[in-house]
Amino acid sequence: VFRPVDPAAVGGAFLPPLADVVGADERVSLLDGSSVLYANFDYAASAPALRAVADGLLAALPQYASVHRGAGALSQITTHRYEQARETIRRFVRARADDHVVFTRNTTDSINLLAHCLGERGGDVVVLDIEHHANLLPWQRLPGTRLVTACATIEETLAALEDELAATPAALLAITAASNVTGEVLPVTRLASIAHRHGARILIDGAQLVAHQPVSVVSHGIDYLVFSGHKLYAPFGSGVLVGRGDWLDEASPYLAGGGASAEVASGGRAQWHTGPARHEAGSPNVLGAVSIADACTALSDIGFDAIGHHGHALRERLDAGLSVLDGVRPLRIFTDSAGRVGIAGFAVDGFSARTVACYLSDHHGIGVRDGRFCAHPLLTRLGYPAGAVRASFGLGTGVDDVDRLLNALSELVSRRG
Ligand code: PLP
Repeated sequence: VFRPVDPAAVGGAFLPPLADVVGADERVSLLDGSSVLYANFDYAASAPALRAVADGLLAALPQYASVHRGAGALSQITTHRYEQARETIRRFVRARADDHVVFTRNTTDSINLLAHCLGERGGDVVVLDIEHHANLLPWQRLPGTRLVTACATIEETLAALEDELAATPAALLAITAASNVTGEVLPVTRLASIAHRHGARILIDGAQLVAHQPVSVVSHGIDYLVFSGHKLYAPFGSGVLVGRGDWLDEASPYLAGGGASAEVASGGRAQWHTGPARHEAGSPNVLGAVSIADACTALSDIGFDAIGHHGHALRERLDAGLSVLDGVRPLRIFTDSAGRVGIAGFAVDGFSARTVACYLSDHHGIGVRDGRFCAHPLLTRLGYPAGAVRASFGLGTGVDDVDRLLNALSELVSRRG
């Protein structure tokens, strides 16, 4: 018998979405032929664009011309917008005045770019086994990459990293700030201190953190920060690498071509720019870059206090609701994690992850992610080699959506034979 989740049992007052996102009024068809509003619980994969970002994109389209090389008015306006976007992002992540802000395609691209630089420079890299493949596979291509298995607690994990770096020096510690599987947040400042104590630099994969918590490159002691626009309420196709310029300027250009070259002799030999241009050959994704900056501005306007409060309230309610559902098992890496972003990874006894995800979609119009979330080693170690379910939310999510998800799961669980 289906027992709906009792709102009193899962706590939390009525909480509307915190911001207007595109697609919030999208209706989808169910198997029974009816239609419902789509409930998006896949923000961790790609967050829907904020209305403010979409409006900015539409406003920029008519004034859209090639950057850096044109003398025309629209080219100058576009160049200005593109360069302003760098400065907005620099301020958003509190980067140093002389850090490079390089536009890339996404987090994966940003990490591959730094791996390219380190590959030429040489030096070992230390990574945890909980990483998204984006922060694992680019390093695996380098000869000196060492994988440290995360322990049951964050404290033990920090100690294991410290031991590893003390035993054999490394050039870089590359770690995620928040797990894309469990949402658990790692202590970035302490990780940076550990790296620096042993002469290494630190790369923080901020893909899952920057939309939820304020990040300060300076006060956290981050050397390189990477993230994607499409997880920050901007469209696909643009990302950022923010960080120290020396390794970037010493490496050969990540892509060879126009824009990266300062001078090309008649024989074809190039002298390359230093600065962000060195690694941004080709016509850049100006609208993507501007959209990231617009998203940074919109998030700053909303304020991270409000964002944190909203995320916390929804997560508490979702966690409480999941905990009263029979046979629903949350995924956790650590027993002592201090905080989580809006991600709940879980498994449901008796149902494959695919069945759960399809049931939610086909019968309730709820979109979650199922699978191994590009973190195969972690899913295997947590005991889910065939995958799990991930519900993730953000600024366009309200408590009604959370209750809808809980009730749909409750209905599914009640069908277990
Ligand atoms: N790192 C983390 C923690 C992620 O969650 C993701 C995407 O899910 C990535 C990196 C890769 O991001 P992208 O696909 O935008 O390159």
